[in-house]
Amino acid sequence: MPPNGDTAPDPDLAQRDPRRTVQLDDYAPFLAPETLDRIYEKAEALQHLHVAHVNSTFYGGGVAELLDDLTLLMNNVGITTGWRVIQGAPDFFSITKKMHNALQGGSINLTDLKKKHYEDIVYKNAVRTHLDHHNMVVVHDPQPLPLIQHYHRNGPWIWQCHVDLSDPHRGLWRYLRSFIEQYDGVVVSLDDYKQSLDTPQRTITPAIDPFAIKNKELSEAEIDERLGHYDIPMDRPLVVQVSRFDRWKDPEGVIEAFQKARREIDATLVLLGNVATDDPEGTEVYESLLDQEDERIHILSVEDTALVNALQRRAAVVLQKSLREGFGLTVTEAMWKGTAVIGGNVGGIRHQIEDGTNGVLVDSVDEAAEQIVELVKNPERRKRLGKNARATVRERFLLPHMLEDYLDLFGSFQTIYRLSD
Ligand code: UDP
Repeated sequence: MPPNGDTAPDPDLAQRDPRRTVQLDDYAPFLAPETLDRIYEKAEALQHLHVAHVNSTFYGGGVAELLDDLTLLMNNVGITTGWRVIQGAPDFFSITKKMHNALQGGSINLTDLKKKHYEDIVYKNAVRTHLDHHNMVVVHDPQPLPLIQHYHRNGPWIWQCHVDLSDPHRGLWRYLRSFIEQYDGVVVSLDDYKQSLDTPQRTITPAIDPFAIKNKELSEAEIDERLGHYDIPMDRPLVVQVSRFDRWKDPEGVIEAFQKARREIDATLVLLGNVATDDPEGTEVYESLLDQEDERIHILSVEDTALVNALQRRAAVVLQKSLREGFGLTVTEAMWKGTAVIGGNVGGIRHQIEDGTNGVLVDSVDEAAEQIVELVKNPERRKRLGKNARATVRERFLLPHMLEDYLDLFGSFQTIYRLSD
C-alpha cells in the first residue's frame, strides 16, 4: 500500500488497454467520492464547450507537461478539448525568452524591430491556426499572446501566465498589457502574481498526473535499470536537481552548494536537464556547466521521463534552488514521491513547501549546503518531510484539483455569454 493510506491504483489498467488514457475515475484511490462527483457535475453543465489550448512547445517545461495531461482529462469528462502549438524560428523564441526573463524581473531591450518580428510571427501562426469552431480559447504565456487580435471570437479568450510575476519588468508589462487587456480573463499561478489590470483575474495552481510515466510507482529494479543505463553511481546518497537548463533554476548555485556540502558528506550530485524548443538559451547554459563535472558531479541533458521519475524516487534529497519560479512542477513531482525537497524560497516553491514540515526552504547557497548535509545525515527527518510532502500533493496538487478550477473558470463565463448569444 502506498504511503498515507492511499489505496493502490490498478497497475494493470494500461496493459489491459494500451489505448486507454487516464480517466477521472482512476483518481478514486486518492480523492473523496464527493470530490469526483462534484467535478462530474460541473463538467456535465459544460458539455457544449469546444476548448482550445494554445502554447509554444509540445515538450520541455511545465506548461507542455500540464497540457499533455490536462487536455486528455478534459476530454475524458466530456469537454471537447484540443491543443495547438505555435511555430517559430529560433530568433522568434530568442525574443520571447527575453520576454519570459523580463517578466520574471530581468532586463530587456525590446526594440521596435523585435516587437514587429514578434507580432509578425504570431500573425503568421494566426493565419494557419483555425480556431473558428471553438467557444473557449486558453492562450498560455507570452509567446502566442497577440493571437487574440486576429480572430472573430465565438466565446471567451483567456490568457494564462505561468511565470513568476512577482516583479515584472514595467516597460515590457506596459507593452504586453495592450494585448492582455483584449482577453476576457487572465489566469495566474499564485494570488501574489495578480497585476493591476482591467481584465478579471483568477488563480489556478498547477498539478500533476500521478499515473504519467514521470510519476507512476517504480520498482527498485526499474529504478536501478534507469540509473544504470546512464552510468549514474548508486553507491552514495544522491542529491538531484531536475530542471530545464535555465539560469533562473540556479544550476550554478546547486553545484556550489554541493561542493560546500561534500566537505562534510559523501554523496553524488546529478543535475538532469532538458532544453525546450521555445528556449534557445538552454544549450548555452548546459555547456557552461560542463567543466564542473567530476566523478561525483553528473550533468545530463537527456529527454527521458522515466529517468526523471527514477531520480526523484531514489534521491536522498531533491533540490529546486530556483531564484524565480512560477510554480515548479519538479517540486510537486518529487514531493509526490515522498522525497525530501530543498527549495529556493521563491514564488510557487514557497506555495508548495512549508518550511520544516513537508520540505525545506533556503535563501542562499550556504543554506542549501547546510540543508544538504543535514538531510543526507538524517534519514528519519527525510522520511518525515517526505511523508508530509506526499500528503500535501494528494490534498492540493493532483490534476483533478486543477481540472475543477478550470471548470469553475469556464462556468463563470457561461451566464455572460449565454445572455449575449
Ligand atoms: N523536465 C523533464 N526533464 C528534464 C527537466 C525537466 O521532463 O530534464 C520536466 C519536469 O519533470 C517538469 C517540467 O519539465 O515536469 C518542468 O516544469 P517546472 O514547472 O518545474 O518548470 P518550467 O520548466 O516550466 O519552468
